[in-house]
Amino acid sequence: MNVPLLDLKTQYAAIKTEIQAAINRVCDSQYFIMGPDVAALEEELAAYCQTQFALGVSSGTDALLLALMAIDLKPGDEVITTPYTFFATAGCIARLGAKAIFVDIDMQTYNIDPRKIEEKITAKTKAIMPVHLFGQCADMTPIMEIAQRHNLYVIEDAAQAIGAEYKGKRAGSIGDIGCFSFFPSKNLGAFGDGGAVTTNNPDLAKMMKILRVHGAQPKYYHQYIGGNFRLDALQAAIVRVKLKYLDEWTAGRQANAVHYNQLFAKTGLIETKNNSDLHLILPFESDQSGQYSLRTQTDQNPFANHRHIYNQYVLRVMNKRDELRAFLTERGIGNEIYYPVPLHLQKCFAEWGYQAGEFFHSETAANQTLAIPIYPELTANHRETVVNAIVKFYVTT
Ligand SMILES: *Cc1c(COP(=O)(O)O)cnc(C)c1O
Repeated sequence: MNVPLLDLKTQYAAIKTEIQAAINRVCDSQYFIMGPDVAALEEELAAYCQTQFALGVSSGTDALLLALMAIDLKPGDEVITTPYTFFATAGCIARLGAKAIFVDIDMQTYNIDPRKIEEKITAKTKAIMPVHLFGQCADMTPIMEIAQRHNLYVIEDAAQAIGAEYKGKRAGSIGDIGCFSFFPSKNLGAFGDGGAVTTNNPDLAKMMKILRVHGAQPKYYHQYIGGNFRLDALQAAIVRVKLKYLDEWTAGRQANAVHYNQLFAKTGLIETKNNSDLHLILPFESDQSGQYSLRTQTDQNPFANHRHIYNQYVLRVMNKRDELRAFLTERGIGNEIYYPVPLHLQKCFAEWGYQAGEFFHSETAANQTLAIPIYPELTANHRETVVNAIVKFYVTT
């Protein structure tokens, strides 16, 4: 049996009638850019993310760029972020002529380690940009405390974390600005590119609204240089349909994680009696006060006020990760490495002067992580097929 990493066709089949009605509505209106569906989505997103404002934008990348433009990030400025993330996080910093100051990750959650942030702050630091990787929030309390102490902005890269919660607060509602992506493989995916920014700050909301349309206000009068960061009406209409199902899908992902954890517990691959028994480390959830737990017994959140939305279920493979990956791929089992090259080692950032070995945990994660299918429509049979294949790999090699 093949198990793809993601199966959007099954999801589409379940909501096809509603999606097609939404598309038809937009086609009949011939109103393609911004408009009533974008405005309605913005209200619904603000409510969902527990923020005062939400703005639809052209992609998650543009959400990050717009946020950084709104805080007036300039050449020579520095932004503290993680090297273990999707390229766009640091790419947007570089595009504005600023420098990403990388801080290593916490190995249990793969998120930025707040204990290592403060020592990196300089007179040039303008913002901290935590990424809520794989659907779990970064440890925001110490990050916000540090930011307040040093008068820095906090921009949350919540592209993988819509609906995730940290101490009862939704991703994107904690820092100054939250950035979201509707890339099709995200938990709330459009039928193309799309994204959003959220904020509780009326001034930043106003600024982002102006910069979204080339910095014009009113139309054709430009006090600022913005960009075309507008969201299409079709994407907004589609995302609005999907938003209604998001919590149900998140529960499905969480239940899959529980089942995987139960299945792996029976395999012996996560034993720690001696180091050679330990082949896999399962994805931990953190209560952000030094406690880590696996989602196991139930589909309840292991910690109160905490919500991991499992955009990815990522194994840490202690032995033969690349061989395991090839073995699974050969058998039609979807998998991916998020991410094989940490950003401080990307060629395009060579001028920043980072060296191999500088961020040990990020480099270790890049060498050891492997994501397996977690999409909500997975069946028990699928999950067993995935786990059995992994067991087979270690028994036969
Ligand atoms: C997907 C993603 C982005 C970029 O979003 P796009 O919509 O693809 O532009 C940025 N940051 C992170 C962490 C992401 O996962």
